[in-house]
Formats: sequence, structure tokens, C-alpha cells
Amino acid sequence: PCYGLIPRSFPDHVRHEPIQIRKARRPMASAPFDLSGKVALVTGGNGGIGKGIALGLARAGANIAVAARNQDKSARAVAELEALGIQAISIRCDVTDGDDVNAAVAACVERFGGLDIVVNNSGINVRKLPHELDLEEWQTVIDVNLTGVFLMSKAAYPEMVNRGGGKVINIGSMMSIFAHETLAPYAASKGGVVQFTKACASAWAKDNIQVNSIMPGWIATDMTETLRINVPERYETIRARTPAQRWGRPDELAGTAVFLATSASDFVTGTAIPVDGGYSIQS
Ligand code: NDP
Repeated sequence: PCYGLIPRSFPDHVRHEPIQIRKARRPMASAPFDLSGKVALVTGGNGGIGKGIALGLARAGANIAVAARNQDKSARAVAELEALGIQAISIRCDVTDGDDVNAAVAACVERFGGLDIVVNNSGINVRKLPHELDLEEWQTVIDVNLTGVFLMSKAAYPEMVNRGGGKVINIGSMMSIFAHETLAPYAASKGGVVQFTKACASAWAKDNIQVNSIMPGWIATDMTETLRINVPERYETIRARTPAQRWGRPDELAGTAVFLATSASDFVTGTAIPVDGGYSIQS
């Protein structure tokens, strides 16, 4: 029991009750940013932001499962991860396919004995005005960016419960907050990711599972390559509008991901953290 400083104005029965400090169900790791012995599955961890995050988690000590479709690209990412001295595997997975997703979680658990961290990072984009989109284009973006997050989170949940807790990190976007005329399904899916994050955070807090999202600003990856190269004026507008006066790099998401994956964030859940060089604070 702990007797805190309770003001005299409080009723006697309150002042004389010992304050019960609830014990954390999962003991703190030896250091708050240490992931030694933890297992992380990163969707789309074979390139861009996903690989930047996977490398960050690996540097903090986690073993990594890379879940994506392109196996050559995944094999190269696994080699890079293993060079850091951790264990890594590649699992072929289309996040829109429920069987693939369940099999990916099962493969990860079989190889590493459990699952502690999921990073839902896989994402795609189709740039068109809303009235020019066909249903298939709309559906594909929603399926990868939003339904994929649901499928993987649902599949991972029982494994995290088995471990006594876990961390889910969902990758949103500036389009979780803003929109653009050519990004209707993308903005709808990324807004949905942030809202879905809050629902899961609320549902799974009792299981000691923290669910948060990261909203990256404009990052130089394959996804933005066409825009950067073919529409230089848009590249420049974005750069100039960003207080940091530059685009971000994939490795710059790693620090926030490590924070959200470790015991350092055990009392942080349901948030959406911008990592954007200040883009979202500018009017
Ligand atoms: P990339 O195109 O470099 O990476 C996308 C990743 O998603 C690839 O690894 C790809 O792997 C994977 N992926 C695509 N479709 C599927 C699928 N059906 N099943 C499984 N994996 C899939 O883009 P970024 O690194 O830029 O994007 C990563 C995330 O960050 C996305 O969610 C994106 O929306 C978000 N984001 C990006 C920003 C940016 O400026 N770059 C800004 C804000 C958010 P494979 O093809 O092998 O399956």
C-alpha cells in the first residue's frame, strides 16, 4: 500500500484508505526501449517505410517477420535485417486475403514461438478524381489499406492475449487528417485506419494490448516516386509547405515505431502520432 499526499479537505474514509497501485501485468523490460526477445511482424516490411521501421525494431533487438507479396524484395530485406544480428523471416502474404493473413501469423508463431508486435504498414494508392474511379479501384485501395489492417489485427489478437499483452502499430497518413481531390479512397482508408485504431485500443486495453497509429508526412519511397519525378511542382509545394523544408526518409519513422513497440509506451493507446516535419501544424 502507498499513502499519497491526500488533501485534508477530502473525507476521512478517502484520506485513510491506502491508494492501491495496480501492478503492471507485464513487467517492464530491462530498458524502456529494449525489444530483446520480442517478435514483430511488419506488413510491407520489404521496402520503404515498412523496411525503415523493421530495421529500427531489429536494432532495438526484436526478431522480425516480413509479410509481403514480392518474395525477392522480401529476401533482400531479410538479409539486411539478419545483418543486424537478429533473426528474420519472410512470409508471403497478401493482406487482403484472410487465409494468407492467418497463415502469416501462424508461420510467425511457429518460427518464433509467439507474436508481440504487429506493424500494419502495407499500403497502395490510386490517384484519380472521385467520379473517375471505378468500383474495383476503390475497393482495392480500401481492401489493402483498411481491410488488411482489420484482418491482420484480428489474426494477431489471440496470439497477443497468449503473450499477456502486445503492441499494434497502424500506419496512417497525412490523409488521415487532410484530403486531396485525387486521393478519395486513400484518404477514406487512412481516416478509417485512425478510427479503427481507436476502436481496437478501447477493446483491447483490458488485454494489455496497446494500439496506436503513426501518420507519416511526405516520405521519399516507391509510393511517392512517380509524384516526385513526374510532378516536380507538387514535390516542391509539399517541400515548401513542410516546416522542416524537406521530405522525410523511411528510417525517420523508426524512432516513433520503437517507442510504440516497447514498454516505454505502455500507457499510450489509441493515439495517432504525426511524424511529418511539422506538415500537419501548418494552416
Ligand atoms: P511502398 O510502395 O514503398 O511500400 C508499400 C508496401 O506495401 C510494399 O512493401 C508492398 O509489398 C506492400 N503491399 C502492397 N500491397 C500489399 C498487399 N496486398 N499485401 C501485402 N503487402 C502489400 O510505400 P511506402 O513505404 O511509402 O508506404 C508504406 C505505408 O506508409 C503505406 O501504408 C502508405 O500508405 C503509408 N504512407 C506513405 C507515405 C509516403 O509519403 N511515402 C506517407 C504517409 C503514409 P509487396 O508489393 O511486396 O506486397
